Amino acid sequence: MNVRTRVAPSPTGSPHIGTAYIALFNYAFAKKHGGDFVLRIEDTDQTRSTRESEQAIFDALQWVGIPWDEGPDVGGDHGPYRQSERTECYREHVSTLIDTGRAYPCFCTNERLSALRAEQTAAGGKQGYDGTCRGIDRADAKRRIDAGETRVIRLAIPEEGECVMQDRLRGEIRIPWADVDHQILIKSDGFPTYHLANVVDDHLMQISHVIRGEEWISSLPKHVLLYEAFGWTPPEFIHLPLLRNPDKSKLSKRKNPTSILYYKRAGFLPEAVLNYLGLMAYSLPDGAEDFTREGLTATFDIDRVSLGGPVFDLAKLRHFNGRYLRKLSPNALLERAKTWLLNDTSWQQIVPLAQPRLEQLSDLVPMSSFLFADRLDYDGAALLAGPHEPERVPELIRVVQWEIEKTAAWTAETARGVFDRVSEKEALKLKQLLPPFYVAFTGTAVALPLFDSLAFMGRDMALRRLHYALEALATQDIELKGKRLKKFTKTYEWKYARQD
Ligand code: GLU
Repeated sequence: MNVRTRVAPSPTGSPHIGTAYIALFNYAFAKKHGGDFVLRIEDTDQTRSTRESEQAIFDALQWVGIPWDEGPDVGGDHGPYRQSERTECYREHVSTLIDTGRAYPCFCTNERLSALRAEQTAAGGKQGYDGTCRGIDRADAKRRIDAGETRVIRLAIPEEGECVMQDRLRGEIRIPWADVDHQILIKSDGFPTYHLANVVDDHLMQISHVIRGEEWISSLPKHVLLYEAFGWTPPEFIHLPLLRNPDKSKLSKRKNPTSILYYKRAGFLPEAVLNYLGLMAYSLPDGAEDFTREGLTATFDIDRVSLGGPVFDLAKLRHFNGRYLRKLSPNALLERAKTWLLNDTSWQQIVPLAQPRLEQLSDLVPMSSFLFADRLDYDGAALLAGPHEPERVPELIRVVQWEIEKTAAWTAETARGVFDRVSEKEALKLKQLLPPFYVAFTGTAVALPLFDSLAFMGRDMALRRLHYALEALATQDIELKGKRLKKFTKTYEWKYARQD
């Protein structure tokens, strides 16, 4: 059999460290068996997908050092590799499912679905679609479709019994059909959902092994059902253990940096990151801790993947990275530092910002050192020195964090846009809003121009600095958490969704 694996990230937000982890195992497995590794972009969610984010995925995987044989940028025989360019194909496929009664159009309005939800909540019973439209006879359904009535297409889930599935590492998995929702396959905008597009593409791209995170196990019944409905042989499924925060919860950006670009920016070596990700679910047969991509691939045995919840521990990664740095010769280290940030490209951006403020050349390095740092050294109290009530500071930081996450492209202008928007929404002058942010981002109250500095730092480092600021506030007993945070989040969503 020709082994073909894939990683299929969605281009929303920053490239996730979990994507590199999954990609690494897919790569190692494919290459060990002389096969191909495919990068597919799952951009069916048109409201959240961006080209910037897609490009960032390419850059991030390249940086970590995981190459792909086929993908949107390099092409291949099974393209296009971007799902948004394959919509027609999904529609055609789904129409065969409608013809065979394996999928059905659902005309329920949002009002009806909300009322149903409210009823189910009040009754305290099972939540989910009740299958009403499944009963509509085909001729009637066709007439309504031809009349242009708004609809979605749902997968017809068996009414009883259970789905029996195989996972290579986990063995047999059984899930009762009663626990599986009547999955929407085509949304009312005509776009497919992940489940349909994913199965159709894995089949058409001849993916032999689906190696992905364990969070997809609950979706597996729908996928297995789709393969069966299409009359296709499913690939082999391998669900890897999820990366976890040190408290064992699912790795989340609130607790750990999850963007690969943060690790690049913060001066981690890609080979150390790759090695550390490999160790998350694997150890070499000879027990060696340090390995390269080739070293991992040469002896890779997927059946040796361990399923215990791997903890992605930043402190350990730092230690690991330090060891990698020390293995380099001083010259090699210097070269790496240059490739990282200590180069003319950086100084060409910084010097014009610093020039108006310089009195001596020796001011240059201290003035700009914050641009190269990760965690800054400042006293938590400095964040409270501005004009805001102490309790307001973590609120403003959260709001800025959320707004930064929402911006697609990251430039001095979009950074400024975030602060303009927040100052308007919070009824504060920009000058009033900024003092704690100067401290959070630069470590001091006065430094280089803030928005240009943020552009230089990159979005992920900017977000990380806000995270550090919240930690520094916590040492001052100023925290926004639990119920208060929940309530604040809701107010924020309401307030910032309005266009006024
Ligand atoms: N688009 C999915 C993701 O973002 C892919 C999941 C899968 O590999 O099937 O993780």
